[in-house]
Amino acid sequence: MSKATKKHQYTLVILKPDALVKSLTGNILTRLSEARLRIIGAKVVRVSRELAEKHYAHLKDEPFFDDLYNYFSGKAYGRKYERVLAFVYEGEDAISKVRKIAGATNPLEADPITIRGAYGRINKKGIMENVIHCSDSEESAKDEIHLWFDPDEIIEAIYPTKKVIRNKCEVLEWA
Ligand code: UDP
Ligand code: MG
Repeated sequence: MSKATKKHQYTLVILKPDALVKSLTGNILTRLSEARLRIIGAKVVRVSRELAEKHYAHLKDEPFFDDLYNYFSGKAYGRKYERVLAFVYEGEDAISKVRKIAGATNPLEADPITIRGAYGRINKKGIMENVIHCSDSEESAKDEIHLWFDPDEIIEAIYPTKKVIRNKCEVLEWA
């Protein structure tokens, strides 16, 4: 049987506020490092309602979106945890490799050795606090990376850009 062709991919990884509350940053990055991918962008982000609505556009009309935002923004945990860590990873089959290490969306259904299976829970409001976000397709990875990162925050030119003048300075924007 011929091996499926490997695809060079990018993926957005977010350590959600519960990962920070539970002091899991090092642990999760170590687990992800087993996939032999490279980090090409990294930052701390405070998640606005607008960013959350764009990121979770497929969920923004759900009745639980307010509770989801409360969780994803970290507001549920207090000011100290109102932040997430965002990363862009690059490498062969990056999307499926990270999804596999992350585990199923529902932490109760996730394999216990995955990140979500080991550290996730369902909170009192019924929201799946599952510690990590990772893109689920090349299309969503592209949309998510465009949403979360500016071109000059990523160490390599991964998608087309254009030069624009902002405050009399030339800067790069996604084309
Ligand atoms: N979520 C939830 N309940 C649901 C669906 C989603 O709490 O019924 C939350 C959960 O934190 C999940 C996120 O919303 O990770 C995004 O949902 P999606 O279906 O995109 O799952 P993912 O891509 O994160 O596995
Ligand atoms: Mg998703």
